[in-house]
Amino acid sequence: MVMKGKKGVVLGIANKKSIAYGIAKACHAQGAEMAITFLNDRFKRKLAPIAEDLECGSRFYPCDVTKPEEIKALRESLKRDMGEIDFIVHSIAFAPKSGLSGRFIDIPKDAFNIAMDISVYSLIEITRELKPILSKNSSILTLTYLGGVKYVPNYNLMGVAKSALDMSVRYLAEDLGKDGIRVNAISAGPIKTLAAAGIGDFSFLLKWNTAHAPLKRNVTIEEVGNSGMYLLSDLSSAVTGEVHYVDAGFNIMGLPAVNFDEKGRATIAWNGTD
Ligand code: NAP
Repeated sequence: MVMKGKKGVVLGIANKKSIAYGIAKACHAQGAEMAITFLNDRFKRKLAPIAEDLECGSRFYPCDVTKPEEIKALRESLKRDMGEIDFIVHSIAFAPKSGLSGRFIDIPKDAFNIAMDISVYSLIEITRELKPILSKNSSILTLTYLGGVKYVPNYNLMGVAKSALDMSVRYLAEDLGKDGIRVNAISAGPIKTLAAAGIGDFSFLLKWNTAHAPLKRNVTIEEVGNSGMYLLSDLSSAVTGEVHYVDAGFNIMGLPAVNFDEKGRATIAWNGTD
């Protein structure tokens, strides 16, 4: 039981397909005691069975990260019900549709600000507000994507947000390292979730990854969950500021995979046209 005795909070479970649910399940299976959050009353009802599965009891709190007062209230609820906590999972992102397809140059300013606020600043604010109740040797984990490092079709605005999130992880890691607090990110391969459905032609990314990742497949929330659990546990006690890829190896590829004909000439194995 790697997480026995660990207490933490998981933000970003929308349903059983959420990456945060995969991480929460892995932590629960390894003995962690957990709180989860919901965005509003509509999601509270939907998430109630998940809170029960994860044995959260009454540790089930509202938190819309655009509302600073809800983040502060979350800290007070956690303090009251759990005392100190040992881990935080930040698995939250949002960008308006206008930022997730079409030409990058056309991204509206209000869409840009919303995406940066919810997908990036929320990590900084949650870390700062919850820091007073973080134990020594605690661990914070967020979720990022390759589209913050390299061009990915339609990822557009979220690419810029993920890039800023990756750097936030590094600055937070340095800042909090002296307090024994670690901050890491997992860069997950594409997974069909609610958030992913907002990205233009997302099914293309899934097919491209399957065709060209070294493992020739996509990843599951259980696989991301296990890697996340490792980063939240003491097994990763010397790891901080890291972006850890859980993507079936796709990020190492410089060119698409090829087949060779009888003369040894390379032909593209799959060019995305079906
Ligand atoms: P998801 O299930 O839709 O989770 C996204 C979560 O963000 C939802 O729980 C959503 O809550 C929450 N959220 C949005 N706005 C919020 C706000 N104002 N306050 C609080 N929570 C808010 O999708 P997911 O794919 O698991 O996404 C989780 C993380 O993984 C995101 O950072 C995403 O960018 C990252 N990621 C995803 C993939 C992928 O292919 N799926 C790959 C790499 C990284 P509501 O649903 O209640 O609005």
